[in-house]
Amino acid sequence: MEFEKIASVLISKEDIEKRVAELGAQISKDYEGKEPLFVGVLKGCFIFMADLMRNVTVDCSMDFMTVSSYEGTSSTGAVKITKDLNQDICGKDIIIVEDILDSGVTLKFLESYLMVRKPNSIRIATLADKPARRKTDIKADYACFEIPDAFVVGYGLDYNQKYRNLPYLGILNPELI
Ligand code: 5GP
Ligand code: MG
Repeated sequence: MEFEKIASVLISKEDIEKRVAELGAQISKDYEGKEPLFVGVLKGCFIFMADLMRNVTVDCSMDFMTVSSYEGTSSTGAVKITKDLNQDICGKDIIIVEDILDSGVTLKFLESYLMVRKPNSIRIATLADKPARRKTDIKADYACFEIPDAFVVGYGLDYNQKYRNLPYLGILNPELI
C-alpha cells in the first residue's frame, strides 16, 4: 500500500464512481422541475460534492458550511458552526451533502438549524452511512454506501487532515492511529 497507515481498501475508486453516478441520476429524477441548492459540509464533502454535482442534470446551485464536531477519531459530541451560508434559503429545496453519517449528531443539529430559515424542503445526501453508531433518529435520503464501524479515510475524508487525496475509501490501520 502506497500510504503506510492504510490497512485496506474498503471501497474502490471504480465502485465510488459508479455509485455516485447512480445517486446523481436519482437526484436528477427526484428534482425534475425544481432547482435544488446543494449545501456541502466542509471539508470532508468536497470531492463527493464535486463528483455528485457533475452527475446532476437539473439546474442547481451550491454553497458550503463548516461545522466542527470531531477531533482525531472520536466525537466530542459538540457541534459548532464556523462558516454559515451567506444566502437566504427561504422557499428553497436544500440537499445537505455530507461525507459520513455516523452518530448523526452533526446532521440532526444542522437540519434543525437550517429548518428555522423556512426552506421548502431539506434532504440529506451522504457518501457513507455508518448505522452502527447512530445516536439520533436522522436518516439519509441518499446514501452511496453503508459501511461498517471502522475509521475510514480518502475521497475527501481525513485523519488529522491527511489522506483526503486518496481516490478510494480506505480503512486506517487501528494500531497506527
Ligand atoms: P456524526 O455527527 O454523524 O457523528 O459525525 C459526522 C462527522 O464525523 C462526519 O461528517 C465526519 O467528518 C466525521 N466522521 C465520522 N466517521 C468518520 C470516519 O470514519 N472517518 C472520518 N475521516 N471522519 C469520520
Ligand atoms: Mg463531516
